[in-house]
Amino acid sequence: MVEAAEFKNTLEFAKTLDEQDNLKSFRKKFIFPQHKGKDVVYFTGNSLGLQPKTTLFNIQQELQDWAQFGVEGHFRAQNPWMSYHELLTDKMAAIVGALPAETVMMNQLTVNLHLLMVSFYRPTKTRYKILCEAKAFPSDQYALQSQVKFHGFKMDDAIIEIHPREGEYAINENDIFEAIEKHKDSLALIMIGGVNFFSGQVFDMKAITEAGHKAGALVGFDLAHAAGNLKLELHNWNVDFAAWCSYKYLNSGPGGVGGAFVHEKHLANTELPMFAGWWGHDKQTRFLMDKTFIPMKTAERWQVSNAPIFSMAACKASLDIFAEAGMDALIEKSNKLTKYLEFMIGEINKEKNNCLHIITPSKNRGCQISIVAHGYGKPLFHKLIENGVVPDWREPNVIRCAPVPLYNSFEDIYWFKDVLSPLL
Ligand SMILES: *Cc1c(COP(=O)(O)O)cnc(C)c1O
Repeated sequence: MVEAAEFKNTLEFAKTLDEQDNLKSFRKKFIFPQHKGKDVVYFTGNSLGLQPKTTLFNIQQELQDWAQFGVEGHFRAQNPWMSYHELLTDKMAAIVGALPAETVMMNQLTVNLHLLMVSFYRPTKTRYKILCEAKAFPSDQYALQSQVKFHGFKMDDAIIEIHPREGEYAINENDIFEAIEKHKDSLALIMIGGVNFFSGQVFDMKAITEAGHKAGALVGFDLAHAAGNLKLELHNWNVDFAAWCSYKYLNSGPGGVGGAFVHEKHLANTELPMFAGWWGHDKQTRFLMDKTFIPMKTAERWQVSNAPIFSMAACKASLDIFAEAGMDALIEKSNKLTKYLEFMIGEINKEKNNCLHIITPSKNRGCQISIVAHGYGKPLFHKLIENGVVPDWREPNVIRCAPVPLYNSFEDIYWFKDVLSPLL
């Protein structure tokens, strides 16, 4: 393995790294938007992953089965729709480090957060607070605020936000542990993003879960930016619940089906409060259509409606690719790609008077690097796009870049520097 000190800022060197890459053939499984006849440098897989070439085939199969069988497709389709979601479970569970019984693909992310909080945010008069990171993704903030209000508590009192210290971008994890300790008698739930969407900071989910449990709280994570990006061990870390979307690193297409995890230890408790629907009913007797709800003994209990098959078919295309690549190999490449990007940003800084400031902590990160471009505004982002480089822009001046190990190359990183440096 090449160490950062041996990295070189040349096209030839980037190409050598690509040749040594065991996962290099996976790039060909994805469709890249084109710029002047060439693949764009796509660094926004953390926002919307690229389309696998097999997605079209998977969706066509379902359209064809629908045409051929009509309603009978629920049982007679090549992949019967009745149980379609089960085709995704094992592969998804492997990605997030869960048991299959703990994992289900259903609904969408924010919906899943709400459904899971119905079961796992059970505030009492004295224990009602939720601890989260400041500037969480807006949807998470609204979800937490509305849950707190729904239970009759005041937002400012019930939601504890942990901020980065003055002048810093990342949160000091000691501040999280101190807050848990400080509020240990009133804390009902910890709900944090596994990776902060803005700074790219990865939180120590294992340690936070342990600290939360010690304080008597339950612990859930939003894994929107973590699923398919980090090595997760939700089961072993003893996390209570988690939810994620599949259109970011998991490449299932815009608005794709979400995912959810409920730890095994909660599954035996059939008395857990929940918002139920027919797809959460025991599947052996679901179609007796009896009025008594018999909950499934897996995370499938939280399913409400029948599965969105086209979205599931798209998701399956990508999960099949993940299973082929394997998370361990992806993580290894991810680390190396991200280090190379960091190195190249350093090279730009040498040429351009240190105008780029990386705000993502180098020790706690996945494959995202967020950069503050001092003195530059949105025109810089537009110029990158005009030149075939697609990062993501967050006001006022943050460029987020995600070199994704499934389909990005070391050469992409070389071209990123080649385009960006002259614009500064
Ligand atoms: C992307 C993202 C969302 C989006 O929520 P949807 O319900 O899928 O629209 C929510 N939370 C976080 C942390 C995200 O990164």
